[in-house]
This record gives sequence, C-alpha cells and structure tokens, in this order.
Amino acid sequence: TILFCVFKFQKWDSIQLIVDSIFITVAIIWLLWILLFDKQYSALGFLSQDSIINTLSIITDVVQLIVITIWYLSIRAGKIPIFFRIVSGAIFFYSILDLFYFYSIWKSTYTPNTLLDFGYAATLLGLAVGTKLFYVQFPTGYKIQSKSNSNIGHLYKGILMFAAPILVVIFKGFVWFDLFFFGVLILFHETFSSYIQTSVNNMALLEREQTLNQDLEMRISERTHNLQQKNEELIYLSEHDQLTGLYNRRYFIQRLDQLVNAAAPNKKIALLLWNIDRLKGINDTYGQSVGDKLIAAIAMRVNNLTEEKDTLARLGGDEFVLALEGVTEKKAVESFAKRIIDVCGTPITIGQYTFHITVGMGISIFPVCALDADTLMKNADIAMRFAKDTGTNGRMSFYNDIDAVIKRKRLVASYLKKANFAQELSVHYQPQFCIADMSLVGMEALLRWNCPALGEVPASEFIPIAEEENLIIPIGNWVIDKAICQISSWNHEYNTNLKMGINISPKQLDQTDVLEVMNASIHLYNAEVSWIDIEITEGIAVDNDDKAARMRQFFQDQGISISIDDFGTGYSSLGYLNMLSFDRLKIAKPLIDRIAIDETSVKIVYSIIGLAKSLGIQTIAEGVEAKEQFEMLLDFGCDQIQGFYLGRPVPPESFQSTFLSNGFIEFPSTSISVTGLSL
Ligand code: C2E
Ligand code: MG
Ligand code: MG
Repeated sequence: TILFCVFKFQKWDSIQLIVDSIFITVAIIWLLWILLFDKQYSALGFLSQDSIINTLSIITDVVQLIVITIWYLSIRAGKIPIFFRIVSGAIFFYSILDLFYFYSIWKSTYTPNTLLDFGYAATLLGLAVGTKLFYVQFPTGYKIQSKSNSNIGHLYKGILMFAAPILVVIFKGFVWFDLFFFGVLILFHETFSSYIQTSVNNMALLEREQTLNQDLEMRISERTHNLQQKNEELIYLSEHDQLTGLYNRRYFIQRLDQLVNAAAPNKKIALLLWNIDRLKGINDTYGQSVGDKLIAAIAMRVNNLTEEKDTLARLGGDEFVLALEGVTEKKAVESFAKRIIDVCGTPITIGQYTFHITVGMGISIFPVCALDADTLMKNADIAMRFAKDTGTNGRMSFYNDIDAVIKRKRLVASYLKKANFAQELSVHYQPQFCIADMSLVGMEALLRWNCPALGEVPASEFIPIAEEENLIIPIGNWVIDKAICQISSWNHEYNTNLKMGINISPKQLDQTDVLEVMNASIHLYNAEVSWIDIEITEGIAVDNDDKAARMRQFFQDQGISISIDDFGTGYSSLGYLNMLSFDRLKIAKPLIDRIAIDETSVKIVYSIIGLAKSLGIQTIAEGVEAKEQFEMLLDFGCDQIQGFYLGRPVPPESFQSTFLSNGFIEFPSTSISVTGLSL
C-alpha cells in the first residue's frame, strides 16, 4: 500500500501521507490506549506473555488499518484499479479480524472454528482474487499513469482526528490532559498539513503552468511547421508549371538573370528555346487534354536529357526553354539541341492516337549573342522564328548565324518601304509550254526589284519581307496591273489566247481590293478573264476558311482560272483535290529536282499527275532544268512544263522577241521547233 502511494503521489503527496499516518496513528493508538486499556500498563501484560511476534502483529494491524483508511480518504475515487481496491480491502478486513482475534485472546473469549476463522479465510480469498485480477487486467504489468498531485482529502482526515477527543469525552468524560494531548496533535497535524497542501497546490500550479507552456510550445511549433510547409508549397507553386512540373516563365527569367549577372569571366551559358509546331491544330482536333498530355510527355523526355545544373522551363503554351551551363561550345550545343529535337520527334502515343511532333528551336549563347538575360531570350526567340520560317538546319538556328540575316531583312524592308515602283520594280515573264506539242501556252509574271542601294534583290528574298511588312498589297496590285496590261497587249497583237500566271499571296486574298484592282485592269486594258490565271499556294488553296473559299469561288465565277503553286511541298494531301476544284496543279520544283535521282519522288509525281488527270485538273511541272526530267515528265503524261530548260524569266521585250515574234524557238538541247502558237 505504501509503495503504491509512493508511486502514485509525488514528493509532497507522500509527505502528506506520512504525516497523516504518523499523527492519526498516534491519535488512534492513544484513543485505543484510553478506551480499551484504560491506560493500564498491566493490560499489556498479555502481550509480554506471548512472543514479540504478536506485539509486532498488533502494531502492523493497526498501522495497516490506519494507512489504508487514510489512503482511501486521500485519493479521489475512480482512479484506483479494481484489483487494488480488492487487495487493500482484504488487508483492511484482515487487520480488523486480527485485532479482534488478539482482543478475544486478551479477554480469553476466543473459541476456534467460529465466524472469525471463516473471516480470515475470506480475506485471504480476497487477496488471492485481487492478485489474480491484477494478472488478468494487466498482463504486461501495471504502470501508474497519472503523475498529477491528487492527495487532496485532508479535510476528511481532519474530521477523523477530531473524532478521537469526541470519543474520549463520550466514553471517559472530560480528561483535560487527554484533550490537551489531542489538541496539540490536531494543531501540529493541521500546521504540517496546511504547509504541505500549500506546497502541493503550488506544485500543482507549477506543473499546470509547465504543461500549459509545453502545450503552447507544441502548438506553436506545430503551427510554425504547418506555416513552413504551406510556405514551401506556395514557393513551389509560384516557381513551377503545374502541367509539366518544370519551372515556369517567372522563375526562369529570374534564374537566367541571376546566372548572367553572377557569371564569371569566360563563363558561357547556352539558351535553347523551342516550341511545338501546330499544337493549336492538335488541340482543336483532338481536344485540349490530348494537347496537354503531349506537352507533358515532351517535358518529361527533355527533362530526362538534362542534368541537375541545367534549368528547364515551360514558358507557357507550347514553348520550352533550357539554360545549359555545362554544354556551351557551339558544336556541343548543336548536338545537344539535335538530341532534344530528336526526342521530341520520336512518335508519342496518347490513347489511340500516335503523334509525330516537330519543333523549331532557336539558340543564343551568353555572352556571344547578348550580355543580359532579356536580350538573350529575345535573340533565342528571333532565332527560333527564323528556324521555323526557313526550316533550315534541322529546324534549329543560332542567333549569331542569323544575325546578319536579320540585319539584312531590316535593311531590305526599309528600302522596300521607300521604293519607287515605276523606277525600281519590273516584271519578268517565264514561258510555259504544252509538253505534247511544245506549243507556248502562257507565261508566269515574276516580279523583279532593282534597288538603287542594294542592287537586284531576289523575289524569294523581298516577297516574304513585303508580306511581313504589309507592302505586298500595293506591290501585288502594281504587278496585277502590269501583267494584265502585258497579256492584253500580246494577245491582241499576236491574236493569241496565252494565259498570264499571276502570283497572289495570302495577304492579298485577305482583302477585297485585289478583285477590284483585277476587274479595273481587265476593263482598262480590254482583257479577257480567260487570259488570267492566278497562282495561289497550296496552304491557301485548301484552307477551309470561309473567306478563302469565297475568294476562290469569286475567281472561278468570273472565269479566272486558279493554279495551285508549289504543290507537294506543303502539308495538304491529295485527298483535298477531291473536294476542291482547281484548274491546274503546279508540281513544286523540289519534287521535280528529285525525279531523276529518287524513286519515291518519281512515285509521288507520277501519282499526282495520275490523280489530277482523273479529276480533270491540268498539271504543270515547275523548275524543269534538265533533259531527263523533261523526258520523264513527258512519259508520265504531265500536261505542261516551265523551267530554265525551256526558258528563263526574262523582261517583256526579250520574251516578246524570243517567244512571240519569231514563231520559232530553238530549244537548248532538244531543238524542237515550235511552228504555231496555240493553246
Ligand atoms: P514561284 O511562283 O514558284 O515562281 C517560280 C520561281 O522559280 C521563280 O523564282 C522562278 O524564277 C524560279 N524558276 C523557274 N524555273 C526555274 C528553274 O528551272 N530553275 C530554278 N532554279 N528556278 C526556276 P523567283 O522569280 O525568284 O520567284 C520566287 C517566288 O517569289 C515565286 O515562286 C513566287 O512565290 C514569288 N513571287 C514572284 N513574283 C511575285 C509576285 O508578283 N507576287 C507574289 N505574291 N509573289 C511573287
Ligand atoms: Mg508562281
Ligand atoms: Mg512555284
């Protein structure tokens, strides 16, 4: 019992228990001494007759009784395990019975085998049951859980102390010495107890404060941890692209800025910028989620190529960027860039679809191409657009390499803006022949620009610039007027029905001006609509856009024929020809170039001609330069031919003298004479 109490209570609780035990034991022994023995020392004689063991037994019994009582009065109910209640209860009753036994011995009234002996047996059974219960309830051993101060029952013990003098008064009357003795006992007990209780309460308060503090600290550290976690999450979100998990634009720009500013002398940084071709089309056709998966797949593939120190980011949409710190020499960067283009190009399967992605990439290197992050990015972007526009070098270009090109472009644009059309522009004409009888069927009007400052600028160079700068509209109108004037004059003069091919760029088709200009020239020069053939590029020809379709319809309603220029170089398929009606296909020069050397091109050209024939569309081969090409095309059943082999683009006067006035043409290597000019 004492052990339990010592474990159960802390320091001050144990002291309270000891104080209670001492004082109450003294009080009760004194009480018993008065009540039972009448303070007669002779009464103790019976003890001395027996062994010292009996004396000790009686003392133990009394102490046990008192301690258990005090303990019961000291501890709040509900906290003591049931086994302990039974055990302590058994000891309690055992002690009472034992005392009664000694009492009956003293009074010589003891008779064996009475209720007393049964009581003994019952208390022993109680002990056994309690112990068994302990093992059942706590198979792994009992551990005291509560460490809090709980010895608060000193009021009841006080009452117990008061009971002693009251009992003395009741049974023995006022014995002043005894009452004084009890008074002193009670006084001392109260003094000690109140001191101990104050300490107990102080300790309790202190402990409470400590637990509160600990609790508070725990909460604060938990909150801090949560905040840190949230903060880290926020930082991650603000720096990363959600779809791909790569860095985002904001972070990348910051990082590049840091890299550039902190770069040691001789340190290089390569910036690779690329975007996916025609992603919008994929999104529109297959849905946004497929487009997203494509982007994520590409991000993952490229990420696998990079190293820790490289910074890879998605700038948004279909655009990615990579800052390389390790690989910076041009050759190495080039082969790294090629690896990226290759992994992007490896077919990607999403669900039931397989995509063959192409990308265009621009590269700029610090400090060669730019000295700050912004310009470095801008230059990579320029290089990327250049690579995509020109499709050169595996669709990648270094800003340094295109620098000169860009400058030249700006220069050309500035002169073109100031150009005096009448003085600087002219139109050359290239003949087109019917392959079967080598008769002239028409010519293509090809614009020439003789810039006073730059000299002759090729059409392939200045036409795209004119398109970009929106200058193609006035220039195109000027060509339309010139060409219609020319064909009208030739057809009237030679009484022929030759067709004038006029190139019309997409930008011109975007505005209705071109129709009015054409009509005006037709009326002005008294031309026939059937003398005009407009050449539009493949992309525009098959564009399903309403406006383009209306334009085509308009030309055809008017009786103006339409040729599809450079057929076979774009992305459209022969399938489109079923849906759209055109008058003529111009098979692109790159295809014609390869027919003499490449079996696939032969098949393509052969099937284009076959299909066009079956649809009633005429075919003309562009850029025919050699005899073998000419003969193969003749074999394939191509209708018409245009190229240096039969005639270069020339000024109107020489066209007239070479192809019109003579009525006879000496072909460079075939020597076929043309006797008549007929369609
Ligand atoms: P295009 O319409 O495909 O014109 C044919 C181009 O091929 C012409 O180049 C012509 O000189 C060239 N060519 C023809 N036969 C041969 C050949 O046998 N060998 C080689 N190597 N080249 C040959 P050009 O005159 O430099 O024109 C380039 C492009 O510029 C034209 O391609 C056309 O798209 C555009 N263009 C020319 N004039 C005009 C115009 O007045 N308006 C518009 N919008 N574009 C024009
Ligand atoms: Mg053309
Ligand atoms: Mg062409």
